[in-house]
Amino acid sequence: MNALENLIKQLSRLPGVGSKSATRMAYHLLKCDSSYNEKLSEAIGTIKEKIHKCSICGSYTEADPCPLCSDPKRDQALLCVVEQPQDVMTIVNSGIYNGLFHVLGGAIDPLNGIGPDDLSFKELKDRISNGNFKEVIIATNPTEEGDTTALYIRHILSGSNVTVSRLA
Ligand code: ZN
Repeated sequence: MNALENLIKQLSRLPGVGSKSATRMAYHLLKCDSSYNEKLSEAIGTIKEKIHKCSICGSYTEADPCPLCSDPKRDQALLCVVEQPQDVMTIVNSGIYNGLFHVLGGAIDPLNGIGPDDLSFKELKDRISNGNFKEVIIATNPTEEGDTTALYIRHILSGSNVTVSRLA
């Protein structure tokens, strides 16, 4: 396989990129200024060493704790539980929520072998026990797995002194 075929093959493994788009991107990169290609490859090559999971909320961050967890202006009594780090960005960008976050790392999905032990429920429970939260908003996806996960969150927090609601 030559270098061009290899690049097309690697690009086509990205989500949402079929072989047609991968081919278009590869030919585009051949025409680009080589400094752009270097910047792109450096950005891809260093992403995993620069970005880590926040030790508090589980979201992706360069600094630990992340800027959201360390922002005193955010409402420390409100906790929004989401499945993935990218869900945090969606909710922050919507501008309608000013509390803290907890990222589970996925949803309970027995058919694909994902059980409660694979997600950060223990950390969630510890945060509720040790923090000053008054309200938990469940923002799992509107899927069967998201529903199951929401039920499980209600179950593990049933003895806690917090109001639990689910984002419509
Ligand atoms: Zn955080």
